[in-house]
Amino acid sequence: MRLLPIDIDPQEFYKSKYLFYHRFTFWVAIIASFCMVTYFVSDCQIFGYTAWEVLPMRLFPLVIAAGLAILSRKTTNYKIMTVATYLTVLSVLWCTIWVVYYLPDKTHFGEGSVINQFLFFAVGFAAPWHYVVAVSGIVLVSILGTDCIIHYPNFDILISLNLPCLIGTTVAHFFMQKLYIKHFRAQKMLEYISMYDQLTGANSRNAIQNLIKVENNQFIDDLTRPLCVAMFDIDFFKAVNDNYGHAKGDIVLKDFTAIVKKNMRQGDYFIRWGGEEFVLLMPNTSIKHAMSLVEGIRKKVSQAKSKVCPITISAGVSRYDGMDYKKAIDQADQALYKAKAAGRNNVVLFEE
Ligand code: GH3
Ligand code: MG
Ligand code: MG
Repeated sequence: MRLLPIDIDPQEFYKSKYLFYHRFTFWVAIIASFCMVTYFVSDCQIFGYTAWEVLPMRLFPLVIAAGLAILSRKTTNYKIMTVATYLTVLSVLWCTIWVVYYLPDKTHFGEGSVINQFLFFAVGFAAPWHYVVAVSGIVLVSILGTDCIIHYPNFDILISLNLPCLIGTTVAHFFMQKLYIKHFRAQKMLEYISMYDQLTGANSRNAIQNLIKVENNQFIDDLTRPLCVAMFDIDFFKAVNDNYGHAKGDIVLKDFTAIVKKNMRQGDYFIRWGGEEFVLLMPNTSIKHAMSLVEGIRKKVSQAKSKVCPITISAGVSRYDGMDYKKAIDQADQALYKAKAAGRNNVVLFEE
């Protein structure tokens, strides 16, 4: 049985799952490392004296946890972070086993190992299911393998306690991941609704938020400069609505979008700015190239066979020079105004 439906990109899904739960699992790993230090008290109770010799093992997971904390500031890569979080929790288990090696009474490892199982269960929330399976295997092998050296006196109890926990964790996370698919789909749907205009399928105005830096309203660096902006407006569109009805007007908007999408390049952004006004962002494009692209679109629209009626468009083009993005759009709008004033069905470049 497939765990993830075919339409879900696994990388995107696992990243989303990680981002949703990572604060929880991060703090589980950090707190577990601190709790580990407190078990030094129970060690001393079992030894019957202050057993300084096991203190380094009780402290060691803190070093790994510090590494995890540093790494979490540098990356959000779910693969790296999931492995690092699991390593922190595994270091708690392995150091516990190391302490048990020295303990005069090793029977208490049963309780300790079950406490550890809670950690593996918790950390699994942010992990892909196959990581949960792999880690369950590593935990089992750690206990079986170290028995060859330590010879746990209550090995049968140890296995009867840990095996159901490991199987339980694996099965529970299988269903957890299936449950998260619903959340992921809902999230994607909301994202789609907010980023795309539902009538035309062009980007919605909200999408601009992903293309600007909030601190200074400049376009993000990914929109390689020279960046040009075009503002389109359908000519006499009110008349289309008046003569053919609003529903036919909608079809004209959809057809216009289809023509632009067909003629724009990969990496360009086409946004419904409002009503029948649209913005085209053209990264890595000189003014000359932008003018010829927009002129090409204007021509295609005017020559297109329409299901409703022939239409024309006017457009204004401006060049983004690193200022507030609204200024570039405003300049394209001013050029559009001139295109309208000059008789419509033409493209005008903004000039100061
Ligand atoms: P101009 O050449 O000066 O642009 O004339 P115009 O008639 O196109 O004027 P304007 O750009 O102001 O027209 C906007 C019209 O667009 C008004 C409104 O009824 C129509 N409109 C806005 N949004 C929609 C929509 O979603 N569907 C339809 N059918 N019409 C819309
Ligand atoms: Mg118009
Ligand atoms: Mg308009």
